[in-house]
Amino acid sequence: MSDVAYPRVQSHLARLKLPRMAECVDIVAQEAAKHDWTYLEFLDQLLDTEVSARYERDVAMKTKLAHFPFAKTLDQFDFSFQPAISERQIRELATLSFIANGDNVLFLGPPGVGKTHLAIALGMIAIQHAISVYFTTTVDLLDQLHRDAKEDRLDHRLQTLCRPRLLIVDEMGYFPLDRMAAQFLFQLVSRRYSRGSIILTSNKSYGEWGDIFADQVLAAAILDRLLHYSTTINIRGQSYRLREKRKAGVFTELAELQKEA
Ligand code: ADP
Ligand code: MG
Repeated sequence: MSDVAYPRVQSHLARLKLPRMAECVDIVAQEAAKHDWTYLEFLDQLLDTEVSARYERDVAMKTKLAHFPFAKTLDQFDFSFQPAISERQIRELATLSFIANGDNVLFLGPPGVGKTHLAIALGMIAIQHAISVYFTTTVDLLDQLHRDAKEDRLDHRLQTLCRPRLLIVDEMGYFPLDRMAAQFLFQLVSRRYSRGSIILTSNKSYGEWGDIFADQVLAAAILDRLLHYSTTINIRGQSYRLREKRKAGVFTELAELQKEA
């Protein structure tokens, strides 16, 4: 590059807000000379540095906004431990067509079988495909909505909760929900209905949802909307958390606790 061209390229890249290209142009130009790249190959490689950097930034930002309690991937999931789960069905979900269609996914099963793990893993795949995700537990969600209702900003919060294309609501059913909580959930599910996907996890089967909600009519209305366009994954397996404990012989006591949960 001539003496004039180099500072001009740098200043153009700065003005066009392409900092990664500005950083990499020297090394990519050297590589191009070394490997005798065509002009197009050079341009392709240089553009790729900027696009990759932006992608990584976007993934990092979306992951932060998602508020996952921990990071888990599908590769970390041991399907052989949980034969109740169809790996094909989970891989199908990982194609994210359910998000494209605004469908919901429900993971049902006892504690420790991997419901939260799979929900987060799907969330992380979604983020890799530039899809916005928000993770919350039922308890945190309802606490927040109760506070919002008191401060007269429930509507605004519901709007905010409709923004992420995938909303993960973890741990439905560990506590009974009063009428007001049921109304909040009904509003949320109705607003997102066929627009934005929800992944919901629960330790209760649908038949037991009546026990979660004080109001049976609302429970039925929520389920109706959630299930209309949905996939249910029933995990009737053993707790992965208890695996080590089982090996150590303290299984019986914990298994009893699990049954009660
Ligand atoms: P749940 O939400 O059903 O109570 P989690 O998803 O929180 O269970 O799983 C409990 C722990 O066990 C997590 O650390 C999770 O990563 C791990 N785990 C559960 N099932 C599996 C599995 N089949 N393969 C690998 N790790 C698993
Ligand atoms: Mg869980």
